[in-house]
Amino acid sequence: MRPRQVRFAGERRNVERLREVPIDEILCPPQMNVDRDRVTHPSQRLEGGCACGAVRYRLTSDPLVIHCCHCLNCQRQTGSAFVINLLIETDRLELLAGEPQRVDVPRDSGEQNIWRCPSCQIALYSQYTSPKVRFVRAGTLDDPSSVSPDAHIFTRSKLPWVTIPDSVPAFEVYYETEKLWPPESLARLEVLRGQSS
Ligand SMILES: [Zn+2]
Ligand SMILES: [Zn+2]
Repeated sequence: MRPRQVRFAGERRNVERLREVPIDEILCPPQMNVDRDRVTHPSQRLEGGCACGAVRYRLTSDPLVIHCCHCLNCQRQTGSAFVINLLIETDRLELLAGEPQRVDVPRDSGEQNIWRCPSCQIALYSQYTSPKVRFVRAGTLDDPSSVSPDAHIFTRSKLPWVTIPDSVPAFEVYYETEKLWPPESLARLEVLRGQSS
């Protein structure tokens, strides 16, 4: 399945305001069809850090899912075409060194918290509405090539020269979690739902 790509020719302010989908809304996302078997995850432990080396982190398990987000917020935050986020439970993101500093960043709908190295200010991970889930920026991994997106989201604002491979699910906005995430990730999501915040 290859969703229709929407291209905007107008000015940024005329573009329909996009927003990230908070983790709460992942519980009831819009209906979409996708092949869940396409989702694969690295089995090795993922480590990364900032540019100056003061902050180091490790993911203590595979991420829940890996998104490549083409929304305008992510483009603005990264100064680039998209962001690659590894979604993982907050208690599975282990800090090995340093103490990232939280910066509250406005976005089109609400606010996002971004944790940065206090020295070099590299953005390492962020949080949307749920403190239970971190969005780790894959570009800060020691080996960014060790992961690849399970899904491309918000492709309606994808830059026109970015080509998404046919083998990876892509969505104009978002997708139905139950149809994309592997069973293990869905089970972990159930645990998160059951936890009091
Ligand atoms: Zn640093
Ligand atoms: Zn985004």
